[in-house]
Amino acid sequence: MRKNSPDATIPYSFFASLRNGCDMLEEIARIAAEAGLRHAALSVIGAVSRASFGFYDQEAKKYTHMTRQGGYEVINCTGNITVKDGSPFVHAHALFGEADGSAFGGHLLSPTTVFAAELQITELAGPPPERVFDEKTGLYLWQAQPA
Ligand code: ZN
Repeated sequence: MRKNSPDATIPYSFFASLRNGCDMLEEIARIAAEAGLRHAALSVIGAVSRASFGFYDQEAKKYTHMTRQGGYEVINCTGNITVKDGSPFVHAHALFGEADGSAFGGHLLSPTTVFAAELQITELAGPPPERVFDEKTGLYLWQAQPA
């Protein structure tokens, strides 16, 4: 379970700075693993020097992978950490901003190179949902939770 919390009965939430030059997704996963998190919500704001993101083609059941080189704001990145194949798994979506105020984004992928960014992670109570392959969508979705 969590390693850094002083009291397991209160919600555990913390800020972390993502290092310049690191891969955003890998850095989130590294920080979460160091904290021992398997069930958490996360958000990131900041800036990147390269952005990679996916669009899920629902017919083909495949991600289209896009990478854009350049300086972009991370207007918002929201995601979660749950369990897939027995290990913590980060799922996040990001909205990136251009200099003219326009925006683009999607399912966060690597390589996304951090310029400077601030992460907030909040651990959630109870056992994490587990991701299992769903034939209908072709995605690894959370199993239905008991009522
Ligand atoms: Zn996604």
